[in-house]
Amino acid sequence: GFFGGIGGASRKGILIKGSNYLEALNSVDVVVFDKTGTLTKGVFKVTKVSPQDGVTPEELLTFAAYAESYSNHPIATSILNAYQKDVDKEVISDYEEVPGQGISVKVDGKEVLAGNYRLMVSKNIPYENVDTAGSVIHVAVDKNYAGNIVISDEIKEDSKEAIRALKGIGVKKTVMLTGDNKSVASKVGAELGLDEVYAELLPDQKVERLELIDKEKSSKGKMIFVGDGINDAPVLARADIGFAMGGLGSDAAIEAADVVIMTDEPSKVAGAIKIARRTKTIIW
Ligand code: ADP
Ligand code: MG
Repeated sequence: GFFGGIGGASRKGILIKGSNYLEALNSVDVVVFDKTGTLTKGVFKVTKVSPQDGVTPEELLTFAAYAESYSNHPIATSILNAYQKDVDKEVISDYEEVPGQGISVKVDGKEVLAGNYRLMVSKNIPYENVDTAGSVIHVAVDKNYAGNIVISDEIKEDSKEAIRALKGIGVKKTVMLTGDNKSVASKVGAELGLDEVYAELLPDQKVERLELIDKEKSSKGKMIFVGDGINDAPVLARADIGFAMGGLGSDAAIEAADVVIMTDEPSKVAGAIKIARRTKTIIW
């Protein structure tokens, strides 16, 4: 019965937190994915460091690394990896992480900002428009624009199969929501064959978009959201069935989720639906 279904799923690395979710998985119409850490690896590599005149590339990377040293966002990890040196945390104060935007912090008394263009706009810093298929981190020091760092993530090997498998079992719509820029989002969307892609969303806007998608689908159909919990915990909670990536995800995400994918493979979403359908055949 249901417990058999849950046990069978857990042997495949899919933890379903109750029989009600197993039942809901039988009537899924829409699957909505987060990008970073869910469809992409969440392991960014620094591909370009572009300082303004009077700033060296080392200085730019140092400011970015100091700003990011308290963040557990995948972007922070990548910048600290590129920096390669230790950060002296004693010079850091007034740390503030703005979800979907970046970091504001004091380093040695200087006000340092590191984040996307929205952060620059909100702090009135004129920034350089960068034309790239990567994610752009702008850096400002004491209100002066210091330059930008372009970083790139890779699509998970499993993601294409994940979308194909969902279509193969009759899921009507696949969607990606991301806080990242439009060029990155549309590239990922085209490569994976997603039906809809929404970019440059703040955490609240992700919830609003999810609600619109919910209204558009049939009233009986269920909606899944799949995320890693970083900047998407509210959407995880709002979906009919929230899936979290167990390996990359935050503890809060694993707590908030209804289903946890231990292997971080998005194709396990279709796997969970298939198990639920088999379980239903066995019971009824
Ligand atoms: P996603 O929706 O792809 O998972 P997030 O919502 O976590 O992305 O972040 C959206 C955007 O906000 C990032 O692409 C980045 O531009 C900016 N951002 C978020 N956190 C940070 C950070 N720690 N440092 C710099 N930029 C950040
Ligand atoms: Mg995220």
